[in-house]
Amino acid sequence: MSVLASKEITYLPGVGPKKAALLKSEMGISSFEDMLYYFPYRYVDRSRFVKIREIASVLSFVQIKGRILKSELIGTGRNQRLSLQFTDGEDCIELVWFKGVKYAADKFKVGQEYVAFGKPTAFNGKLNMVHPEMESLNESASKQQMGGLQGLYNTTEKMKSGFLTTKAIQKIMVNLFQTIGKYQLPETLPAYLIEKYNLMLLCEAIPNIHFPKNEVVLRKAQYRLKLEELFYIQLNILRSAKNRSRRFKGLVFSTIGHYFNTFYKEHIPFDLTDAQKRVIREIRADVASGRQMNRLLQGDVGSGKTLVALMVMLMALDNGFQACLMAPTEILATQHYSSIKEMLDPLGIRVELLTGSTKRSSRQPLLDSLENGEIQLLVGTHALLEDSVKFSNLGMVIIDEQHRFGVAQRARLWGKNVQPPHVLVMTATPIPRTLAMTLYGDLDVSIIDQLPPGRKPVQTIHRYENHRAGLYDFLKKQIAEGRQVYIVYPLIQESEKSDYQNLESGFQLVKEIFPEPQYRVCMVHGKMKPAEKDAQMQLFVSGVANILVATTVIEVGVNVPNASVMVIESAERFGLSQLHQLRGRVGRGASQSFCVLLTSQKLSSESRQRMEIMVRTNDGFEISEADLKMRGPGDLDGTQQSGVAFNLKIANLSSDGQILQIARDMAMKILEEDPDLALEKNFVLKKRLAQLNGNSISWGAIS
Ligand code: ADP
Ligand code: MG
Repeated sequence: MSVLASKEITYLPGVGPKKAALLKSEMGISSFEDMLYYFPYRYVDRSRFVKIREIASVLSFVQIKGRILKSELIGTGRNQRLSLQFTDGEDCIELVWFKGVKYAADKFKVGQEYVAFGKPTAFNGKLNMVHPEMESLNESASKQQMGGLQGLYNTTEKMKSGFLTTKAIQKIMVNLFQTIGKYQLPETLPAYLIEKYNLMLLCEAIPNIHFPKNEVVLRKAQYRLKLEELFYIQLNILRSAKNRSRRFKGLVFSTIGHYFNTFYKEHIPFDLTDAQKRVIREIRADVASGRQMNRLLQGDVGSGKTLVALMVMLMALDNGFQACLMAPTEILATQHYSSIKEMLDPLGIRVELLTGSTKRSSRQPLLDSLENGEIQLLVGTHALLEDSVKFSNLGMVIIDEQHRFGVAQRARLWGKNVQPPHVLVMTATPIPRTLAMTLYGDLDVSIIDQLPPGRKPVQTIHRYENHRAGLYDFLKKQIAEGRQVYIVYPLIQESEKSDYQNLESGFQLVKEIFPEPQYRVCMVHGKMKPAEKDAQMQLFVSGVANILVATTVIEVGVNVPNASVMVIESAERFGLSQLHQLRGRVGRGASQSFCVLLTSQKLSSESRQRMEIMVRTNDGFEISEADLKMRGPGDLDGTQQSGVAFNLKIANLSSDGQILQIARDMAMKILEEDPDLALEKNFVLKKRLAQLNGNSISWGAIS
């Protein structure tokens, strides 16, 4: 395909520099090849005309054949619109333009016949269609001769105002296929795979994805392209994982020694759950195997991952290695540090904390003792990644709440030892299987699917904001029983002023309703200085404050077992997995806990659905599956933060799980037989992989 990749789209007839610039800036399309891989997002059957009378029940894209009865310019200036009365001989529909009004008014004449194509809406009981595509009967007839389904392409507002509508893109596609001819599409999968998996050839799949003759052909083309897309991602991930394990030997932890045993036998006041035991066994097997461990530990909030992490670090210490634990926020790192220190002090283990706000004066001595091996266990934030942080012999790295960290950061931690340390990443946002396979395909996965005994599931309630009086009474009762309460405000952009005003006025209101000295209310948010934040947090952790008003800075990991109520303001502004994370802050103690979702009464159906899911289930996996289905993987919490751009052109992680499984098996079988892709039959694979890795940034991030 490299010939097509090197042909610039500007030189295609009908494109030109202006449109080329738009395609580049809006869609990242610069070559013929990019254009060919710009797939329609849906298809419509253009062979069928709909009667206006039938529309009420359709309301998706339709085409109507008819005549313009009346043309009218309404309003003036920027508010001017064009309204056409359009009839199919029996009924009428209004066609409306808000943009390009003059142009459309000149072009579409009363008395003439057209095919109008678009999505009708019912407004005040009347049907209309905004910005329909208009074709003359001739144009329409020639399209019908081409037959089949017509692809619709995603376009942005900028593209539309630069005349790059879906129709214009269709035209560009027609030109493109005429220009290149079929023969220039070299196959990107080896023949034996095409045959074995009964796939459509690329030179048929690409034209048929743009201009499918019928549904059957379209399905085959889609299947081929989806499978290929997922296959190459899997091949890439699995191959680099294999390479890595060949290149690096794993540190061998041969003994389970004094620290682990003493801690296990004498310092844990409860029994481990079966799930915790199983995961510790899995990790134990890894670290003794001679391979470098790269493992993802998934477990719902409160399932006891941190304890597992601690025991895993003790394994490293027992074998003479250092360990570190990296957390995404200062609050969380500090909390981990104090609880770990408390648990390990009796064992005489030296634990230290390093964050961005570690004082200069104590920093250098700390770094020195780390480098000479006196510090055995280091807890910290991103600060751990800095070059000045050097270990004497780092054997185990734990990364808490993985989704805040990117793959590149993981790699930096590997570099902290001559031989890369074992790595365990923990996440409380359960990632659906399909997503995990794509995102973390190079990691082995362990799951803690069991909560410690005695936990009562959190009761979740959805209330409208204007019914909050009853809520405050309820909170007072809880506080009277000695419980503590979180009240969380959304802060989508930490910089948004209005959000801070909401938070601030919310805080004032809460203080009025819960006045001192009877009550004590504290507040934390992301803009506070660390010291101030810590002081406020400490008020709550120590039980002095009854209510903590906060932003999502408390989202991850904070552990206050006595807090039994989580109130979430404007809950509709949060995503599902974020809501679930927040809810996980309560339900950690012995008493019944509650989560109250406050929303406005006007809810989109999607928001309503989210609230219903939250009320219905506490199961993190069910919630993340639902999240994936509703929002699409690109939006899932964390995937963007972690820098893993999802750039799937055709496959859909929420609906193509089965194809993904096939793609993964396919890649595994090939690599088993030919790990370097050195066989002649796999030459195409090696070449294509190199090409994809060279082309696209997102691929580099995924591996
Ligand atoms: P996670 O990190 O998975 O959210 P934590 O490790 O913070 O969960 O555990 C939450 C709480 O449960 C902690 O107070 C911890 O001491 C406690 N815990 C952990 N494992 C058990 C267990 N097996 N039995 C009882 N309590 C446990
Ligand atoms: Mg945790």
